[in-house]
Amino acid sequence: MALLLGAIADDFTGATDLCGMLVRNGMRSVQLIGVPRPDLELDEADAVTIALKSRTAPPKEAVADSLLALDWLRSRGAIQIFFKYCSTFDSTPQGNIGPVGDALADRLGAEIVVACPAFPENGRTVYMGHLFVGDRLLSETHMAHHPLTPMTDPDLVRVLGRQTTRKVGLVAYPTVRRGPAFIRDRLTELRHEGCRWAIVDCLEDEDLRAIGEAVADHPLVSGGSGVAMGLPANFRRKGLLPRRADAAALPSVPGPGVVLAGSCSAATLAQIEAFRTERPARKLDPRALARGEELHEVIAWAREHMASGPVLVYASAPPEEVRAVQRELGRERAGAVVEEAMAVIARELVAAGARRLVVAGGETSGAVVKALGIEGLAIGREIDPGVPATVSIGKGPRLALALKSGNFGKRDFFLRALEVMP
Ligand code: ADP
Repeated sequence: MALLLGAIADDFTGATDLCGMLVRNGMRSVQLIGVPRPDLELDEADAVTIALKSRTAPPKEAVADSLLALDWLRSRGAIQIFFKYCSTFDSTPQGNIGPVGDALADRLGAEIVVACPAFPENGRTVYMGHLFVGDRLLSETHMAHHPLTPMTDPDLVRVLGRQTTRKVGLVAYPTVRRGPAFIRDRLTELRHEGCRWAIVDCLEDEDLRAIGEAVADHPLVSGGSGVAMGLPANFRRKGLLPRRADAAALPSVPGPGVVLAGSCSAATLAQIEAFRTERPARKLDPRALARGEELHEVIAWAREHMASGPVLVYASAPPEEVRAVQRELGRERAGAVVEEAMAVIARELVAAGARRLVVAGGETSGAVVKALGIEGLAIGREIDPGVPATVSIGKGPRLALALKSGNFGKRDFFLRALEVMP
């Protein structure tokens, strides 16, 4: 079976989250880490998602990497390309959603590109172009204080407008509600008005399916993993995708479990508190790490404790503490110091026999997976919405992994993930 959907994700957990969505909707999915070798052999997959680390990279670099990923996917025959970013539209005023989307659209000859970060199951909805998280506007949530991509404007037409020289239009809710034909008509209208981009409103899964159907013939679609929900049905309707009962099957991976948390999101902080009441946990101090202290002591501590059950190592801290560290070390250096430490800890603990890993944070997961030299992941069933169980493929020992975007997962996520992973 040929590759149907080729996706490019701007961070690691975003890619995992997208693959989970596709598996759930009947597409066998593989996630690749970075632009793959030209000769990488893949088991049969209906969808391949290339995970980049381009969300906060300089725009030029993000564009170059995304175009390489696009070329690889097209060389494998992908029929449709999906550009995946966060359901909270994480980006800076320079990008990279606008610049990357424009470059992909130019190369694909896509005239209008839908942009829909909505993910109703996780409380992300878009109404009149405004992004909500639960019952709050995006700008009134913890996202306003994100360490790397603070989101202070909830109006996505305006936010995307700052990242592109092209015109951004809106497919508003009354149109979306009326279904795929009306969405298509409105997209044509926007195209005639000179728009390259269309923010699309969405409140429920039914809207996601309608939007998916409306963009069946678009060479490029962009959004959160939610809007990908509607895409597998298009391939089935065209007779290209069989109905699969086994899209989520994975081999089992026994061994000690470790949790690594670098996300400072509210959800992750709550998950850390819950874990700490059950099992041993150690907090990293970025200032000590920057001085070259603490790392080896923490590794020795984790090695000792993981023999008797799961352990947690975390750098996560509340906003005021993060700000203080950033004032001292600089925002980028603070992030890099923590990511490098997590990478070393992961490598050392796997060398010591750890086989089951839970990682919290998009950037953090990217750093850990890179350090472990993992080339790709087969995607299994979801542990919580947006976070599937996975098993590594390619070089190195086989690992069971749960890689979670900071905001995701219920309070008891860490221990439950270790229990339900294959
Ligand atoms: P999320 O998925 O919540 O966005 P990420 O891992 O992508 O999480 O981003 C969190 C960033 O914050 C990472 O770069 C991480 O290294 C950094 N970080 C983690 N702990 C601290 C801390 N105590 N002080 C400053 N930065 C931190």
